[in-house]
Amino acid sequence: MNAPESLKPLDFIDLKSQYAALRESLNARIQRVLDHGQYIMGPEVAELEQRLAAYTGAKHCITVASGTEALLISLMALDLKPGDEVITTPFTFAATAETIVLLGGKPVFVDIEPDTCNIDVSLIEAKITPRTRAIMPVSLYGQVADMDEINAIAARHGLPVIEDAAQSFGASYKGRKSCNVSTLGCTSFFPSKPLGCYGDGGAIFTNDDALAKACREIRVHGQSQRYTHTRLGVGGRMDTLQCAVVLGKLERFEWEVQRRLELGRLYVERIAAASLPVRTLAQRPDRDCVWAQFTVFVPERGQLQQRLQALGVPTAVHYPKPMHHQPAYAEFCCPDCCPNSVKAGEVVMSLPMSPDLTDEQMDRVVSALAHALHPTSAE
Ligand SMILES: *Cc1c(COP(=O)(O)O)cnc(C)c1O
Repeated sequence: MNAPESLKPLDFIDLKSQYAALRESLNARIQRVLDHGQYIMGPEVAELEQRLAAYTGAKHCITVASGTEALLISLMALDLKPGDEVITTPFTFAATAETIVLLGGKPVFVDIEPDTCNIDVSLIEAKITPRTRAIMPVSLYGQVADMDEINAIAARHGLPVIEDAAQSFGASYKGRKSCNVSTLGCTSFFPSKPLGCYGDGGAIFTNDDALAKACREIRVHGQSQRYTHTRLGVGGRMDTLQCAVVLGKLERFEWEVQRRLELGRLYVERIAAASLPVRTLAQRPDRDCVWAQFTVFVPERGQLQQRLQALGVPTAVHYPKPMHHQPAYAEFCCPDCCPNSVKAGEVVMSLPMSPDLTDEQMDRVVSALAHALHPTSAE
């Protein structure tokens, strides 16, 4: 016997409903690639790059193998050398700091604002040294970081800025689009991101012709022409099938962005109306948040997650331990340097979020949250 709909566990991210809505178009696009057979650098690659450049307003879009590869290739295009410093946030997915270290660079960690979890701009300038080569903020959870202020600091010191926009594709910032708010913007098409493919993929955005050319060459082993390796590169292309999937997903992406914004508003309203001891993420009035994760701040997280799981509501933690406390980054560890990041790691919890989440499913999440927080009074 099937459990009634109301008791079936929810999906943390519902990609099945999205596929059901786009099935015919996605299948046809995938079939077209199988028929023409240009699996690497087929026509869908250039088509997607044009569409994404137009969407963000950036002059250039270079698709790459993943969000991680986008960050790595961007740093290579900036010619990051061993010993060079890059200012970034420790409260992020590992890829941000990892790509710096892979090139022999040194991540210099700057703490976050406790209310948005984005880099605290007021702490950046004190960390700039003669070895600083770039600033790499993360637009965490889908809300763009304070880019105007960051760009102004960078300009004073002649530094480029890379936005790690892996979670914020589609978000707006003062009328501009994430990925087109700094020297370079890097995003990811990992399936669970706001714009996802069915495997790995990513993209780099820039208005700088020379950087775009460098990224294109680095993406294919540093080739300026076939078998002429002008510089060191990587095998970093995004394959044609994944580009076809993203082209299919773009058909309803604007609806998805609007639905994400609406779901964010509803979540905040309903959590407030239920008077729960749960704090929601602060949102700056001049930008929106596409909620790659709908992350809240909660008490006694471990117990809460278990109770929610028992009620069929999956949760996740983005992220439990900031990078400056991770064993692989021990060399760059600064035990007491980023207290807000450590504190956030202890209290953040992400709730189910995807454009296909229904209002009823959200009600179920919020009442489960109420039950889980007050198990006796709510029963
Ligand atoms: C997902 C993510 C990445 C890496 O993207 P992949 O496509 O998984 O390589 C980098 N930075 C942040 C903040 C991310 O969330």
